[in-house]
Amino acid sequence: MDYQAYFNSQLDALRAEGRYRVFADLERHAGQFPRATRHADGGVHDVTVWCSNDYLGMGQHPKVLAAMHEAIDRCGAGAGGTRNISGTNHYHILLEQELADLHGKEAALLFTSGYVSNWAALSTLASKIPDCVVVSDEGNHASMIEGIRHSRAQVRIFKHNDTADLERVLASLPPEQPKLVAFESVYSMDGDIAPIAAICDVAEKYGAMTYLDEVHGVGLYGPRGGGVAEREGLMHRLTVIEGTLGKAFGVFGGYIAASTALCDFIRSFASGFIFTTALPPSVAAGACASIRHLKASNAERERHQERVALVRQKLEAVGIPCLANDSHIIPVMVGDPVKCKMISDWLLERSGIYIQPINYPTVPRGTERLRITPSPLHSDGDIDRLVTALSDLWQQCALGRVSAAA
Ligand SMILES: *Cc1c(COP(=O)(O)O)cnc(C)c1O
Repeated sequence: MDYQAYFNSQLDALRAEGRYRVFADLERHAGQFPRATRHADGGVHDVTVWCSNDYLGMGQHPKVLAAMHEAIDRCGAGAGGTRNISGTNHYHILLEQELADLHGKEAALLFTSGYVSNWAALSTLASKIPDCVVVSDEGNHASMIEGIRHSRAQVRIFKHNDTADLERVLASLPPEQPKLVAFESVYSMDGDIAPIAAICDVAEKYGAMTYLDEVHGVGLYGPRGGGVAEREGLMHRLTVIEGTLGKAFGVFGGYIAASTALCDFIRSFASGFIFTTALPPSVAAGACASIRHLKASNAERERHQERVALVRQKLEAVGIPCLANDSHIIPVMVGDPVKCKMISDWLLERSGIYIQPINYPTVPRGTERLRITPSPLHSDGDIDRLVTALSDLWQQCALGRVSAAA
């Protein structure tokens, strides 16, 4: 076989479908977020980033940077091993305590990313609990789907955020069969929010465990940044809360928070936890500083929500169609992969506005979009430039507008 030719033919197929991914080559600047430098065609260009998951700009927060610098000076660069073999640093212990406290749980367990935490925790629970069936929301993230698939456990899918369908599935299963309901709080592409209380009600009725991915909620919602479940007073009802340290907390890594026994079980049986080098101490220290700050400070969350509302209002005033939701994610619907990529390219080249196009398979075909994530650090001027540039391109691409009343 001509291996290289095979690789190239598959890549050409992606390009032909308009879903070949091109990365923006960025240099972020601490202290200047959302401003960045983009490297392209041998030159550099200033850009304003409008699609970052560093939702609150904590990736440049002075307390976070100071904690990371200090940890590097004290402990050096890497952890030096897996958690079991010399790699557990005191910063990991402090961070796990901070996370358990954040979610009102007995314990927490760190992973090298949110992806790995979902993959490892779900695959371990579903494969090690005899005859476990996973009941999974159809909109769940790839990391959850892959973890469930890897477990080879029985899986049943329920309609997105549909508690009646969840109940139908649970009721169809033998009462004594172990069950795990897996879902997210904020779904990252549509920005819609799960009916967590109603899902817990149904899960409890049928004796099922609950596993909530709060990746797009932690840091952003709740009086201490514990997520949507904290805001709604529901954290104690969830068996497992999973989160990331890489989005609103601005650093890197993932975790679960749950009972002592469940965390110890995952710690002891999950390959994806055991056989990998622990997070660098500096990363744990930075995440810890970020969580501590956001537990005590609401200023970032308040300004974030205010900025999101303003962007939404200004886009709607010029008739740009935004998907309605109750979160901080603003999906601007283009509905065509080629136009979506073209608008993104033009925003970048003409206006220095960077919004990555989101095409299939990340979202269903026909729902191609620009996913806008305002932060507390986007100024009024940034917002006006964004809305004007988008409005001009909407005109040029002959895309439909919605009336402000609609
Ligand atoms: C980003 C994401 C993850 C993975 O988190 P990382 O820390 O980036 O690996 C998990 N779940 C959802 C819903 C996500 O959007």
